[in-house]
Amino acid sequence: MPKRATKTGSERTPLAGTHDVLICGASFAGLAVARELAGSGADVLIVDRYEIGERQTSACGIPTEWLEKLDLMGAERQRFDTLVINTPHGSSRYKLPWTFSTFDYRTLCGLMWDQCDARFETAKVEGLASAATNGTDAIAVETDRGIVSAPLVVDALGWRRVLAGPAGYQPPDAPLSRGLEVHPDGGAEDLEIWIDRRYVPAGYGWSFPAGEETRIGVGSFDPKFHVRKTTELLAEDLHRDRVRYQGNWIPHKLRAATGRGVFFTGDSAGHCLPLTAEGIRTALYFGMDLGRELRAVVEGRQTREQAAANYARFSDSHEWKFKWMLRTQKIVPRVPPRVLGPLIRLFGTKRFVDWSFRHYLDIAPPEFAETPPEPAKRGIPTTV
Ligand SMILES: Cc1cc2nc3c(=O)[nH]c(=O)nc-3n(C[C@H](O)[C@H](O)[C@H](O)COP(=O)(O)OP(=O)(O)OC[C@H]3O[C@@H](n4cnc5c(N)ncnc54)[C@H](O)[C@@H]3O)c2cc1C
Repeated sequence: MPKRATKTGSERTPLAGTHDVLICGASFAGLAVARELAGSGADVLIVDRYEIGERQTSACGIPTEWLEKLDLMGAERQRFDTLVINTPHGSSRYKLPWTFSTFDYRTLCGLMWDQCDARFETAKVEGLASAATNGTDAIAVETDRGIVSAPLVVDALGWRRVLAGPAGYQPPDAPLSRGLEVHPDGGAEDLEIWIDRRYVPAGYGWSFPAGEETRIGVGSFDPKFHVRKTTELLAEDLHRDRVRYQGNWIPHKLRAATGRGVFFTGDSAGHCLPLTAEGIRTALYFGMDLGRELRAVVEGRQTREQAAANYARFSDSHEWKFKWMLRTQKIVPRVPPRVLGPLIRLFGTKRFVDWSFRHYLDIAPPEFAETPPEPAKRGIPTTV
């Protein structure tokens, strides 16, 4: 079990005060926002209920190039240039046009934090506070350590979207998938997935080796299907220990990127891709875009309202891609199992794999991490 480092007892002194930017959530999306604000001179506070990197939220697989572009290669644990897809009627090995890496969560968060110049506090965020903010345009956020406020508030708190208010979105009725994995010791060679109804009627199983451990899990697009038994079954089939469980809900639908004066990013805005449930790269991508918009506000180049409009437009401009992925997510489980194997082999031609994986990578391309795209290229008016 990871060692808990979160402040307890007398260390939990009251929090109060107004900052330029308040980022709630210090995982991929929150740290990506903070990283873009580094050097701007803004007073940025990040809060999370756990210490940075303390609680792994995923199997931690990402296109390698994203790690390279963000200078995070120190967190890489293993790299893959093929993907093995297993079905009940045969397996196929795809040669990927780009490599995929697994990484260590704690190391990656630590490296991202080193690239920030924000302040960090552990606190549980409970919602927007109704408290007055002395006539300023600051938004007050209630935490278990007191009320903190800022004119620019980011919800990077994951699928719960805590700052969106009580009209929440609760599983199992909300458009959320569910995922659970075990992390047995011992490595493996291949990055593998299983499309097999023995494990899940709609979804897939995976084995993501990461150096000295392997992350084996099952994700179900149907939130009503419980994945614990079949995660254990997959681990058993692979002769691996069922230890160190971690799981969560995974959004598979985009949600409004702004609202109540708050900016939502990562899973809280539904930025996780349907079908593949890949949400780290997109949390970094949308988080960076948001960070760039907020930087323009703190540097006096645009207003908060302009940042909100630009960021919402940017997020919405991806909606059609998310919808396509969701359509495919709905179709795959309807394909009869005996047809799936031959179909996967048919689509395994180099040309098709290269084409589809390149388009998939382009949804959140690694180049985005290098240079902010020109406003015009993003469909945003150049005048502010
Ligand atoms: C089992 C599983 C495996 C996955 N594997 C992959 C994978 O290999 N690759 C991939 O790309 N995606 C994967 N995903 C999806 C991915 O984990 C998410 O899309 C991604 O973590 C989203 O990042 P985020 O920063 O938006 O949110 P999160 O990573 O969920 O971070 C939210 C942060 O907010 C904090 N927080 C939450 N509530 C509060 C509160 N009330 N107060 C204070 N702090 C709070 C949490 O502690 C956390 O630090 C997986 C998901 C699951 C469930």
